[in-house]
Amino acid sequence: MKTIGPTATVFNHSYAPDASKRPAKIPPTFRKIVIVGGGTAGWMTAMIFADAFLRKGIEIFVLESPAVGIIGVGEGSTPWLRGFFDKLGIEESEWMPECNATYKCGITFDGWSTRPGYTSYFHPFASMLDNLTMTQFVHNAQARLNGADVCALPNRFFIAARLAEKHMAPRPERTFPFDVWYGYHFDAVLLGQYLHKKAVERGVVYKPCHVEHVQLDGNGDIASIRTKEGETIAADFFVDCTGFAGLLLQKALGTPFVSFSENLFNDSAVAMPTPIGDDIPSQTISVAMKHGWKWIIPLTSRYGNGYVYSSAFCSPDEAEKELRASLGMLDDPAPARHLKMRVGRVTKHWNRNCLAVGLAQGFIEPLEATALLFIQRTAQAFVDFVEAGDVGEAAKERYNARINEHFEGTRDYIVTHYKTNSRTDTDYWRACSANGNLSDSLKELYSIWLSGHSIAQPVAEQRIGKGYPVASWYSIMAGMGCFPPRLRKPTAAEAHYDVDEIDNLLERSSMNFRPQKDVVKRIPPKAKEKSLQIYFW
Ligand SMILES: Cc1cc2nc3c(=O)[nH]c(=O)nc-3n(C[C@H](O)[C@H](O)[C@H](O)COP(=O)(O)OP(=O)(O)OC[C@H]3O[C@@H](n4cnc5c(N)ncnc54)[C@H](O)[C@@H]3O)c2cc1C
Repeated sequence: MKTIGPTATVFNHSYAPDASKRPAKIPPTFRKIVIVGGGTAGWMTAMIFADAFLRKGIEIFVLESPAVGIIGVGEGSTPWLRGFFDKLGIEESEWMPECNATYKCGITFDGWSTRPGYTSYFHPFASMLDNLTMTQFVHNAQARLNGADVCALPNRFFIAARLAEKHMAPRPERTFPFDVWYGYHFDAVLLGQYLHKKAVERGVVYKPCHVEHVQLDGNGDIASIRTKEGETIAADFFVDCTGFAGLLLQKALGTPFVSFSENLFNDSAVAMPTPIGDDIPSQTISVAMKHGWKWIIPLTSRYGNGYVYSSAFCSPDEAEKELRASLGMLDDPAPARHLKMRVGRVTKHWNRNCLAVGLAQGFIEPLEATALLFIQRTAQAFVDFVEAGDVGEAAKERYNARINEHFEGTRDYIVTHYKTNSRTDTDYWRACSANGNLSDSLKELYSIWLSGHSIAQPVAEQRIGKGYPVASWYSIMAGMGCFPPRLRKPTAAEAHYDVDEIDNLLERSSMNFRPQKDVVKRIPPKAKEKSLQIYFW
């Protein structure tokens, strides 16, 4: 294994179920669990709970209102979704075709920065292969930060960027010894239907009914819920997956909500699909618009497109017109969907005998497609606590602190996209760069960067920039071109790495991959026993 210096920490990820975590003395207060809500959050939670709890005799119900639809957006993921399916023993060749899913190498950010040479950059999912080029990337970014004219665009250093550029799926040939890190794009409605089917097959009980009232017992816990259909349903534990409505945790238990609107201005979105041809890209593209940004997500069946914007700067009509114009659909009669977003989080995700998962617990705008990861982590961490028999008040505090930290870390990374923008064309972009509502952690990270010092060590140790690895922090700061405007000739040490050589290496590696359009037609079986070890720094 190649070593890359004292700041490196190794991130070993295993997809295999962790047998050591199965002692499980389930507390007697968890015999019947009712999940309210049948969106992605409800069904992902049901699957994670089914895997952990059904065999221990715990009953799991999912209730869904026939009158209230699911949000029906949310088409991109992080690589962690792969762990979700692997842990449940579900093959890509089964779920991906049913959800019109494609592979995702990362995200290109177009037009967020106006700095020459940095008007478009790629945020990769870093892989083991990148161990060969990460040192060079960080070295060059650091040299440029200190004024040397060397290349520091992340696109030039990561295999994921090369694959995305060539519309390749990040699934290497069987003979290639390394696995790579990738996420997915999928149809959110089809994914919900697929998970529903699987959860019911595995023993979860589905009940279509509209919850009208939540009854509390004398201690203030949830005793039961009453439905419009006239039934009263009692349980030991309730999971609130009712989306932005937050019926159980927020409305019935009065759990406070902390808004992130001071840091993140976007509160609305408008979405519309467009046709996709034969060629299928393998990345999400995020294009800066006048008052926000547009996502372009390739599925096997269509493109999903949407404009996320701030209603303080732009009306829904203006946003729809701008989106349509950008898609060449100004006169097209196809309808667009308008959505409101409530950005922030609850103070306690687990409060009394209720857990909130998904939009009911909070939401950070979809710029890095992190919402499904929140769902997965919230549900899995809850299982871990219960299996450890750790369900008292102190445990809840630790649990809530952990989930809150995840929200704050993700928020800081998203805020950085806006804070570092250099556009001056609208009040929106000027307000984003002028925004001074930054966490202490973010202020420290920016101050280290601006002083020309390395952020690698404090990020690797997760003292600042929590939740994102060094590769991501360098990608965003370098990708946005946050460097001195005047550059000088590099010293021999600064110019040590030859970017053309790295280009050749990436090109040779990319020969082991095939076009996305071919791979998604016939998804290969899971890669077994390839090394996934990557540096997290
Ligand atoms: C514009 C936008 C883009 C997004 N993009 C991404 C992305 O790229 N990647 C990503 O990971 N996430 C994304 N998300 C987030 C993602 O869509 C959600 O996190 C995910 O779909 C989970 O939603 P949910 O299940 O919490 O809520 P919902 O889908 O809203 O489901 C709520 C459920 O509650 C039920 N319900 C409501 N009231 C009652 C009642 N009274 N009785 C019974 N049942 C009730 C409804 O019937 C429904 O089944 C995006 C979100 C938005 C707004």
